Amino acid sequence: MTIRKLTSIILTMVMLVSISVITASAADFDAVIAENETIQVSASFDKTATIKFVSAETKTLALKSENLEEYGFCDLYDENEEFLESSYENLVDTDFTLVYDFEAGKTYYFDIRVFSDEELTFSISLGCAHEYTDGVCDNCGVACDHDTDGNILMMCDCGAVYSGSDIACGDTDTVEPEADKKFSVFRFIPEETGNYIFRSVSDEADPIAYLFYDSEFYTGNDDFGDSYNFVVFAELTEGETYYFITEEFNDMSYDVMLTKAVHTADDGSEHDVEYHDWYYGTCQEITYTEGIYCPECDEYIEGHLEDGYGYHEDWDYDGICDYCGESLQGESLIDIIFDFLDEFLAALQGIFDFIIELLDTVGVW
Ligand SMILES: [Zn+2]
Ligand SMILES: [Zn+2]
Ligand SMILES: [Zn+2]
Ligand SMILES: [Zn+2]
Repeated sequence: MTIRKLTSIILTMVMLVSISVITASAADFDAVIAENETIQVSASFDKTATIKFVSAETKTLALKSENLEEYGFCDLYDENEEFLESSYENLVDTDFTLVYDFEAGKTYYFDIRVFSDEELTFSISLGCAHEYTDGVCDNCGVACDHDTDGNILMMCDCGAVYSGSDIACGDTDTVEPEADKKFSVFRFIPEETGNYIFRSVSDEADPIAYLFYDSEFYTGNDDFGDSYNFVVFAELTEGETYYFITEEFNDMSYDVMLTKAVHTADDGSEHDVEYHDWYYGTCQEITYTEGIYCPECDEYIEGHLEDGYGYHEDWDYDGICDYCGESLQGESLIDIIFDFLDEFLAALQGIFDFIIELLDTVGVW
């Protein structure tokens, strides 16, 4: 067989495969699912499992995967192949959930895929999209079986059970390393609106903290404090529920401490303090790390450490530093650009590292 003939056969096969992919419509389905049914499906990244559902009544239902080994997702289409809804992940494992208000008598198609080259077989179930009041579902009357494993806040979806710790202002807690436990969660409901500081205390451990409010990431910190300690500074509102989530990457124990954000002066009086972010200097100005500032005493009580001078900058490209007037002719434009890029990338790297750690924590990877 000539190379040319072989090539044409391969091309033909590729085209046939492509055509079969392109023409695969929602009307071709792999299985049918009914309400309150659990079925087995097989899918990979390239092979979509299409599941047909005809809704008997107008109702909100949830399609959930069970014990999926890799991240999966599902898109819902109507009978005209119009996209309707996508699934969401539950943050701590690889399963997905899709909730939709189905209309009586209509036909729907769930397109399911998995981030896996190999085909995986797993269960999906279609059932009540439980909406709980005091642990009992408003829609089906079933009592919640209280599972907090699938929730980063250690809170059952029904809102009735929390399996983390509580912390009060003034408390210090010790976090012991536990290999099988990824996070420690501290719930806090302030009795007073104001600024609070949640910090770790340790000589060697490198913990990181995230603050969640209303199930959303609010703020976080890694290394503001001494050694590798975090300091989370946040304005919190009386009566609202906040969750401080901590994680340590070296299996070391550390203390956590929650206090009002105040400066206690030598005479015992308490002053309100402010959080100041990093200050980036130039060739003429020192860069300062983040700090806590007492306006009443006009001094930083924590942080705000010198981090060296910044760089010459030449925004108008006249070969002269805009800040110090020094001629930069000796220094090539490339050097200036590299200096600037260096500074820019360092800042970007900091942000990137933080996001990576956060994504890692919430289990997106
Ligand atoms: Zn229900
Ligand atoms: Zn529950
Ligand atoms: Zn002060
Ligand atoms: Zn300069």
